[in-house]
Amino acid sequence: MLLDRALVRLLPAVPKLVVRRISERYIAGEELADAVRVVRRLNGEGKLATVDVLGEEIANADEARAIADAYRDALDVFDREQLDSNISVKPTALGLKLGYDVCRENLEELVTHAAGRGFVRIDMEDASTTDDTLRLYRELRAAGHDNVGVVLQARLKRTVEDVRALAELKPNIRLCKGIYLERPEIAYRDYDAVRANFVQALEELWNGGSYVGVATHDEYLLEQAQREAALRGLGREDFEFQMLLGVRPALGDALVRQGHQLRIYTPFGRDWYEYSLRRLQENPRIAGYVATDTFNRLVPGRNGSR
Ligand SMILES: Cc1cc2nc3c(=O)[nH]c(=O)nc-3n(C[C@H](O)[C@H](O)[C@H](O)COP(=O)(O)OP(=O)(O)OC[C@H]3O[C@@H](n4cnc5c(N)ncnc54)[C@H](O)[C@@H]3O)c2cc1C
Repeated sequence: MLLDRALVRLLPAVPKLVVRRISERYIAGEELADAVRVVRRLNGEGKLATVDVLGEEIANADEARAIADAYRDALDVFDREQLDSNISVKPTALGLKLGYDVCRENLEELVTHAAGRGFVRIDMEDASTTDDTLRLYRELRAAGHDNVGVVLQARLKRTVEDVRALAELKPNIRLCKGIYLERPEIAYRDYDAVRANFVQALEELWNGGSYVGVATHDEYLLEQAQREAALRGLGREDFEFQMLLGVRPALGDALVRQGHQLRIYTPFGRDWYEYSLRRLQENPRIAGYVATDTFNRLVPGRNGSR
């Protein structure tokens, strides 16, 4: 456990090649064809997907445009091949840090392109983007787009207020804990406080009639959500669970067997490093993975298969 925590701090110093090998489970691959292959497999297992085109350090408007184009291509393939996947977009990947309007234009084009064939989830990034992201969502809804949803993070103290402020829109929300470590003034640091905020936000969203993607691998929260859903008589189509590709797949399989909808967040692209680091930093057994990888490289004949 101590070793795991120490390694999390050291991860940025781990060679990229090692990070890549041990994070393969979290990424579909570099190309759209890789994402299509994974989505087809997931659909075959009775799971839905949402695809994320990796790319966070956008330097100019052309790069943001290229990411938007990659999403368009993904939507077109899913439509053509009748695959059950929507898309998840990061505002910074669509140019938010270059300017609100750059992002807004790219996002609205995507949502328009997706209309009639797909749904666009706006991911939530660090707290410096929360206001702009919610504004983007509100403006798209005000412009008449209803194939769009957003994410709220239980880690943030403001989240229940955000649920209340958005209630009149009956928003389609993905609720997660939130990956970004925020300042203690604005975010809960205590594990149980984040859980409690998650449950409260979920209850208020369901009270308001929202469709919720319950995005967690935390068994306690999965149980709470199932219990609440049963109490309210929510059926299979009324909500969904969401998990990340490569994280606790057996738990996801069990949800599917129980008859729940499960959507798997499926990232692909050449810009895999930042996303992989975040996933590895959350992996409670990271030391074991790094050690196994190192062992496999040092001992001839071992190929690191996992
Ligand atoms: C579909 C989906 C979409 C998301 N979208 C966003 C978003 O838009 N913005 C945002 O800030 N965050 C997002 N997240 C990330 C989320 O906020 C959490 O960081 C992440 O899901 C871990 O939290 P948890 O609820 O699973 O609870 P945790 O307490 O972190 O994890 C519960 C258990 O799951 C297992 N686990 C969790 N992560 C890993 C891992 N990487 N490798 C191996 N085991 C692991 C461990 O056994 C752990 O004990 C998303 C998560 C999901 C599932």
